[in-house]
Amino acid sequence: MLPEKTDTLIVGGGQAGLAMSEHLSNAGVPHLVLERDRIAERWRTGRWDSLVANGPAWHDRFPGMEFSDVDPDAFAPKEKVADYFVAYAEKIAAPVYCGVEVIEVTRNVGRPGFRVETSDGVVDAARVVAATGPFQTPIIPTVVPADAGITQMHSYDYRNPGQLPDGAVLVVGAGSSGAQIADELSRSGRKVYLSVGPHDRPPRAYRGRDFCWWLGVLGKWDAAAKEPGTEHVTIAVSGAYGGSTIDFRRLAEQGITLLGVTGAYRDGALNFAPDLAANIAYGDANYLSVLDEADAYATQNGLDLPEEPEARVIGPDPDCVTNPILELNLSDAGVASIIWATGFAVDYSWLKVDTFDEDGKPKHQRGKSEEPGVYFLGLPWQSSRASSFIWGVWHDAKHVADHIATQRKYMDYYRPA
Ligand SMILES: Cc1cc2nc3c(=O)[nH]c(=O)nc-3n(C[C@H](O)[C@H](O)[C@H](O)COP(=O)(O)OP(=O)(O)OC[C@H]3O[C@@H](n4cnc5c(N)ncnc54)[C@H](O)[C@@H]3O)c2cc1C
Repeated sequence: MLPEKTDTLIVGGGQAGLAMSEHLSNAGVPHLVLERDRIAERWRTGRWDSLVANGPAWHDRFPGMEFSDVDPDAFAPKEKVADYFVAYAEKIAAPVYCGVEVIEVTRNVGRPGFRVETSDGVVDAARVVAATGPFQTPIIPTVVPADAGITQMHSYDYRNPGQLPDGAVLVVGAGSSGAQIADELSRSGRKVYLSVGPHDRPPRAYRGRDFCWWLGVLGKWDAAAKEPGTEHVTIAVSGAYGGSTIDFRRLAEQGITLLGVTGAYRDGALNFAPDLAANIAYGDANYLSVLDEADAYATQNGLDLPEEPEARVIGPDPDCVTNPILELNLSDAGVASIIWATGFAVDYSWLKVDTFDEDGKPKHQRGKSEEPGVYFLGLPWQSSRASSFIWGVWHDAKHVADHIATQRKYMDYYRPA
């Protein structure tokens, strides 16, 4: 039975909800976690079958527990990530109620707190933390009409190559998801076209250290916001096949045809921007800049790390980059499916409070919303680059829990005026 009352109600039992629960427990704050499915459901059923974590197991975890069954330098398969969070919830005795959906949250009238309507009844909560994920609603741009005779799906719904009809596949978007899915489809024998936009592509490892380590020591996970002008730059990294740098030239050698940013569709043909060479060059520059910064850091700190000059060798541009296809007739190219690896939007339609901008995005400061008592957790760039990632959300949760504990102290204060 769901309690009728709690201090802090956390919506979502993914990594963000569990991190929040741990810090609230440490601060002595009574709370509940409501999860409509299972703990860490998105890691189980919201991703493709072969997905492994993008960071090694020593890095992509909470501080309080190691993976018991994954080598620290290996990349945990998605099911093991989900299992890890189930074990973590047990370890911290998180009060998680699975199979309970939060339907609506409204502010109480004439008294503090919120009325939380759930699929299992109503809960009265002094505070609400929305931990419903950074990546909620898949976005498919309205480019190719549904009746164009092409199977279209978002990367969120992609599972494996066998799910697609025979024929070539166009993957749109070359961030971590698009690049990995294109690689998998190509290795399975499919003809693949990959539409590549502006991207960062840090080296998987350099001078014996994983890029997660380098980004950590170079302070890049701590960046508070993307640099102006780079808002649409995605990051392409992968732990697949043991982990290697995403190298679009290698993908081209493997048979993938690279294309520029996807444009309009007309009469069975898609247009692509003439920006492929520039996007590849941008990714190369990002890659080399990480090597430069890593070398400077190693020199400055006298680190005895093996030199790796061969990492700086970048091969010639493949033909698809020097002579880019600007228009592709999908039927002539045998393209039977399109996978849109084009990102996600958020949906807080259940949270009926006044703290959203015109695009429905939360207005907040490090997770504290403009509506007193409402908090967000796990948002991209909530406090830093790390915020939507496993290790980052844990630290953001601590900040939010501290704020809640402080607010409770104000409410407990009593001295006759
Ligand atoms: C393909 C992919 C790969 C990723 N790989 C990595 C990686 O390797 N390392 C890393 O650190 N990060 C990775 N991330 C980023 C991030 O770690 C994940 O997106 C992670 O799932 C975010 O956790 P979360 O708890 O914030 O949100 P989610 O995992 O999305 O959890 C939110 C939960 O809220 C529940 N929920 C939503 N609405 C309601 C409601 N109304 N009532 C009750 N429950 C509700 C959902 O069922 C869900 O379980 C990856 C993301 C993607 C998309």
